[in-house]
Amino acid sequence: QKSRIRVKGREDRATTDHVLDPRTRLILFKMLKSGIMSEINGCVSTGKEANVYHALSGDSSQHLAIKVFKTSVLDFRDRERYITGEYRFRHGYSKKNSGKMVKLWAEKEFRNLKRISMAGIPCPTPLHLRQHVLTMSFIGEGYEAAPRLKDAELTPEQAYYAYVDCVKYMRIMYQECQLVHADLSEYNLLYLNEKLYVIDVGQSVQPEHPSSHEFLMMDCKNVNDYFSRQSVEPLTVKELFYFVIDDRIPNSDSRLEELLRGVSQRVVDGSAERIAREDEDFMKTQAFAPRSLFEIEDVDAVIQSNSALGNAVQLMTCGLSAEITARHSDQSESSGDESDSSSSSLNSVDSKS
Ligand code: ADP
Ligand code: MG
Repeated sequence: QKSRIRVKGREDRATTDHVLDPRTRLILFKMLKSGIMSEINGCVSTGKEANVYHALSGDSSQHLAIKVFKTSVLDFRDRERYITGEYRFRHGYSKKNSGKMVKLWAEKEFRNLKRISMAGIPCPTPLHLRQHVLTMSFIGEGYEAAPRLKDAELTPEQAYYAYVDCVKYMRIMYQECQLVHADLSEYNLLYLNEKLYVIDVGQSVQPEHPSSHEFLMMDCKNVNDYFSRQSVEPLTVKELFYFVIDDRIPNSDSRLEELLRGVSQRVVDGSAERIAREDEDFMKTQAFAPRSLFEIEDVDAVIQSNSALGNAVQLMTCGLSAEITARHSDQSESSGDESDSSSSSLNSVDSKS
């Protein structure tokens, strides 16, 4: 059966050998044996944290993408940033055990994909999860994977509609899935038949995450920057950010139309430049906005991860830090009702998916 795993690593043998350690091979063999897939083919992508392979389902009727997370990534600090402070992982994550960590990472992507696909956002359907090996539907035509948005060539009109879709998906992700993508850009969107697909959601965080608004701001900026380069006049980062998080918009489609009309107006009346400058200021001042002080478990990590934001943030987080210490000692005296209730409400979100 060994011959049925044909890994024709495009990039280099070392990476391929690296990821297909004996444990991974065993998982893949078991998947072949149990009929989850009938063959696994070459690498679609080799990345820092995962490799993605093309495969065929057991009956060969369906194309699959198999994402194998690397179990031996040296530096977990970056990932840790997305997990620290998130209630879903406050018991399950151990710094010392990188194997467990990678498994959690794959689980997180699996669960997030479920939520996103259940909300009707185009994305790979998660099909199977075994340790650090995630099987999902393949976005592409036949054996050929859909291009990343970065590599797709869109007409200005296609780009405009893709932007509008992307903005809508960001809002649905936040409002319905309770997720901020946290690595959204033209690199993690696939484009096929004029449709955008959201991928790579292992690092996505819930709004409760202490840095969720900072991550959302970056997502907004990345998306706007890409689409501006495609000659789309985007919303400001501020408009996009609030469109995503505002839960009091009665009709989000008409609100978005209104915002887009505003953009066209700015271009006509010449206020676009001034508004762009104001937007820069908005990004500087609003970059760090935790939802609740209770949710910051590791203040130092938050401060470090915000180091790029400079002194303003330092000052702000120092203030926070003192307040959190005070609140934590309050909590340890009482029975800690607050954290219990938020964890159970989050669990219920999870059990829905
Ligand atoms: P990472 O960026 O962490 O390496 P991604 O999830 O972004 O992992 O996947 C890497 C690449 O693999 C993507 O850019 C895309 O080209 C391809 N890919 C990932 N998932 C799929 C899928 N379901 N269908 C087709 N191609 C995929
Ligand atoms: Mg990616």
